[in-house]
Order: sequence, then C-alpha cells, then structure tokens
Amino acid sequence: MAAMAAAALRSRGGPFRWRARVSPAGCGRGAVRAAAAGPRDYDLLVIGGGSGGLACAKEAAQLGRSVAVVDYVDPSPQGTSWGLGGTCVNVGCIPKKLMHQAALLGGLLRDAEHYGWGVAQRIPHDWKKLAEAVQNHVKSLNWGHRVQLQDRKVKYLNVKASFVSAHTVRGVTKAGKETLLSADHIVIATGGRPKYPMHVKGALEHGITSDDLFWLKESPGRTLVVGASYVALECAGFLTGLGLDATVMMRSVPLRGFDQQMAALVTEHMASHGTRFLRGCTPSHVRKLPDGRLQVTWEDLGCSREDTDTFDTVLWAIGRAPQTRSLDLERAGVLLSPDSQKVLVDARDATSVPHIYAIGDVAEGRPELTPTAIMAGRLLAQRLFGGSSDLMDYDNVPTTVFTPLEYGCVGLSEEEAVARHGQEHVEVYHAHYKPLEFTVPQRDASQCYIKMVCLREPPQPVLGLHFLGPSAGEVTQGFALGIKCGASYAQVMRTVGIHPTCAEEVAKLRISKRSGLDPTVTGC
Ligand code: FAD
Ligand code: NDP
Repeated sequence: MAAMAAAALRSRGGPFRWRARVSPAGCGRGAVRAAAAGPRDYDLLVIGGGSGGLACAKEAAQLGRSVAVVDYVDPSPQGTSWGLGGTCVNVGCIPKKLMHQAALLGGLLRDAEHYGWGVAQRIPHDWKKLAEAVQNHVKSLNWGHRVQLQDRKVKYLNVKASFVSAHTVRGVTKAGKETLLSADHIVIATGGRPKYPMHVKGALEHGITSDDLFWLKESPGRTLVVGASYVALECAGFLTGLGLDATVMMRSVPLRGFDQQMAALVTEHMASHGTRFLRGCTPSHVRKLPDGRLQVTWEDLGCSREDTDTFDTVLWAIGRAPQTRSLDLERAGVLLSPDSQKVLVDARDATSVPHIYAIGDVAEGRPELTPTAIMAGRLLAQRLFGGSSDLMDYDNVPTTVFTPLEYGCVGLSEEEAVARHGQEHVEVYHAHYKPLEFTVPQRDASQCYIKMVCLREPPQPVLGLHFLGPSAGEVTQGFALGIKCGASYAQVMRTVGIHPTCAEEVAKLRISKRSGLDPTVTGC
C-alpha cells in the first residue's frame, strides 16, 4: 500500500505537478481573492469531521489555537445518514470490523464442539440484533467525538461547507440556515463516498452501497456484491460468514495493487467457504420484480454472453469518489486532479493555495486509510502551530484486508519488488503453515501462507511482508515497526518467536522460493 501511494505521488511527477494539470474546476470563476483584511474567526477551520479532520482539529486545539470543525452528511441515495466521526466510525472500519467479528464467531461456534462444548447443530443468526448492537456502538462513538471536541474547546458546527473566498467558508444547516466562517488556515478533510455505476440501468434506484449496508434493519438476504477490492471482499466475506448467500461479481482481478499470489489465496479461501465468484463479468441492468426481489442481468466478458439471476440485495463496491464537487473550490482557487477530482497537494499537504490544506481520502495520491488520515492530520497541526517540520511518511504503511481469512501486508508486493529491483536481486522466503487452533477442529489450512520479500544481497533488507491467516492485522502491525526501522532478513531470523502463535512462523521463514523446496511447515 505504501508503495502504491508513493508510486501515485511519483507518477504525477512530484508534489508541484498540479501547476501543470489544472482541472476545469480551477479555471472558471477561479481567481484567488485577496485575503479579507481584519481578524478572522478562527486560527484553523477544518471542513470534515472524519478521521483526518478530527485528529487535525484536536491537535491544533491542544496547541492552544482557536479551532472550528464543520461536518455534514448528505444522506445516501437510499436515505441512510449518520452522525459525527466520518466514514471509518459510521460506515467503514468500525461497523465492518464488528460484523467481521460476528462472522468469525460463527466459525468459532462450529469449532467449539470439537473442543468439547455442547453446541446446538443449527445456530441461527439474527441480523436485526447484530445491526442494532453495531449501530448502538457507532452512536456512542458519535457522542464521544462531540464530547472530545467540547472538552478541547473546538467549535463544532453541523453544517455543509462551501468556499466563498480563500479565507471564508459558508456553512448551511439542514434547515437552510447560513453561517459565514473565516480562518487563517483551512483544512479540507471531506473524504469520499461510494460510487454508483451510473451506466447500469436501475443501479441507483435498486442498489445499495457500504453507506447503507451497516444500517440495514433487515437482513440483506441473498446478496450480489459488485467489485473485487477491499470493500467488496470484506463485505461478501462477512455476509457469507453470517450464513447468507453472497456472490462477488468481478470484472478483472481481485485486490488490484496487492500481491496477486496473496489475492488469489484470499478469494480461493472465500470460495471454499461458500462465497460464489462470477469472474470476468459486468452488470448491465437491475430490475425490480413484482415480489420485490432484484433481477440482475450481466455480461460475461469471456464468452460475450448475457446471464441473469435474482437477488434480494445488490451492493455496489466499485470504489469511492472524493467529496469535492459541492465545495466551490474554484472560489478559493484550489486545484483538483482532472482525473480523480481529488485535491492536489504537495508533501506538506498544502493545496495550490498556500494556507489551504487537504488531508485523508480527499487528497490526491494518499492511501484511503484511517491511520494515515489521522497521522497526516496531527502532523499538519504540529507543523502549522507547533513549530514542527515533520512530514507524513507514506512508505511502509501496513494494512489488512479483513476477509474471513485476514490478509495483512506491509511494504512491496513480490511483483513490485521484482519490477523495481529485478528478479535476480529479490529473494522470497515463504511458508504454508497450519495455525495450532485449526488442528483440533480439523480446519483446512490450505490458504494459510506467509511470504517475506527481501533483497537478495546481504544483509537482505526486508522489502515486504505478506501474511494470510488468523489475526493478520495484529501480526502485521508488530512486524511493520521492524520493517519501518529497516529490518533485514537476518534480524527477523534472530527474533525469538512466541510459541505457539501464528506470528512466530514469520521468524521461522527458512525456505526460499528460488530453492524450489516444499514450504509446508511440519512439526511445531
Ligand atoms: P472521512 O472519514 O470520510 O470524513 C469526511 C467527513 O467530511 C464526512 O463526515 C463527510 O460527511 C464530511 N463532509 C464532506 N463534505 C462536507 C462538506 N462540504 N461540509 C461539511 N462536511 C463535509 N480504513 C482503515 O484504515 N481500516 C479499515 O478497516 C477500513 N475499513 C473501511 C471499510 C469501509 C466499508 C470503507 C468505506 C472504508 C474503510 N476504511 C478503512 C477507509 C477509512 O474509512 C477512510 O480512509 C477514512 O475514513 C478517511 O478519513 P477522512 O478523514 O479522509 O474522511
Ligand atoms: P477500490 O477502489 O479499492 O476498488 C474498486 C473495485 O471495484 C475494484 O475491484 C474495481 O475493479 C471494481 N470496479 C470499479 N469500477 C467498476 C465497475 N464500473 N464495474 C465493476 N467493477 C468495478 O474500492 P473499494 O471501495 O473496495 O475501497 C475503497 C478504499 O477504501 C480502499 O482503497 C481502501 O483504501 C479503503 N478501505 C480500506 C479497508 C481496510 O483497510 N481494511 C477496508 C475497506 C476500504 P478493477 O480492479 O477492475 O478496476
């Protein structure tokens, strides 16, 4: 992921490339107005109360500055709305991880019998109960964020913001009441929202997105998930785990940008646990039948054939669009990438207007992850008000895809390492292992796999680590520190394992791919 972000930055030719790639949005009414004279309302105004915006606002307030945050959620096309905290808290990481946990528990219940627990043969799952519990937790987080802002004396306004000029923003409440807010520094942290495939007939009327899924009061039932990246695979994974019939429709490869050997194992594991995959297919039409079910027609690209099936729910998971359109950025002179419509930023997160910054998902070339948005927000506040010059470092950002068998990684994929350094300079150490907890219930461990991508020349610096197995997020987080500190293969081999864990298998990776030896771990 880190490599992807760094590559994205490089591919647009360095931080100031935006000067040459002016979006039409930046050309129209676009002159930067002179800063209004006189004192402004705040030292810092943050637009967007999500992961990045809240972190930046709280840090600036901690440093003694006057700060305001404006946050506003436009309901989804299906009418779903939520409170303060942004995507991660309301319709992202948090409800997703809780539903993933619910699905994992189903598997553990089945294991439990083998460990001596008397468990009923059929254990039904109650979506309503899960959704209510998840939603209650999310609401408690919404409240917690409001309290934190209050405690730190950050002014919070539930208004939709748009620029009036380079230092002034108009905020409009749900009821249409307007407020003008001025600030010396403005941070754009408006994130993104799921895309709809507008070329697919009936997509908007009949489909939902991740903005709706976690807030459904009734079970989604038989679900078609369109897309094949993080959101699609995670959602299809937990729906299958909850006992629902889930189908993933992918047009190309799964988890584009990730190590493709790992991605193939992720989908292989999902398929072996009941998720259906329609590969090389794209939908063309969603029709509502008289009984309320959805008839989906799609094209099988491989054989140019049309096919159809019926579902209760169609979930679009085809990527996210930045929330820049309604900000009237041209009034401030802030330039966008003409391709992505994200805000162009330099390494200091500054936009084309020096006192306006952009962080998180809305900023061009940044990973769309909560911890990077948070760290970028904090560091920005420290540079603005704390005398710091520390920049956010997007190298070696770890991430985990929370599919039923979790996939955690940090650093380069094998493909990226080979492309950068050449096959002859890359050594890959790998292992197929069996988690101890899989043995008693005789769980299949065919896809439990680890690989460490290193430079071949001693001391063999580690370029990337890929871990597919239980608790991959927890395992990867620890090793990410070592890799961030420049760990070598030799140092990982000198790291004493914790027995018996899955993580210790990383410190025991002795078989190189080049050797051709069987990488299956035997013994304990
Ligand atoms: P956001 O959190 O999206 O916040 C932006 C806020 O600005 C929103 O509240 C928005 O409504 C508001 N806003 C927009 N326009 C305006 C306006 N004009 N005026 C006022 N307010 C406005 N990341 C992880 O690291 N781990 C995960 O496990 C993970 N899981 C995810 C699962 C799903 C289903 C999704 C969709 C995302 C997930 N992510 C995950 C990504 C993560 O949620 C985002 O990267 C993160 O929330 C981005 O933070 P942000 O501050 O840039 O924007
Ligand atoms: P991504 O942009 O990562 O992937 C979009 C997927 O949809 C790809 O598989 C793409 O296929 C497919 N797609 C795009 N357009 C179409 C179309 N018109 N028809 C059919 N398929 C299409 O989006 P996600 O929504 O999965 O995730 C957004 C971001 O949110 C991620 O990049 C990630 O950073 C963040 N996130 C992080 C999570 C985590 O940390 N665990 C979890 C969830 C989200 P193709 O490859 O062919 O283009």
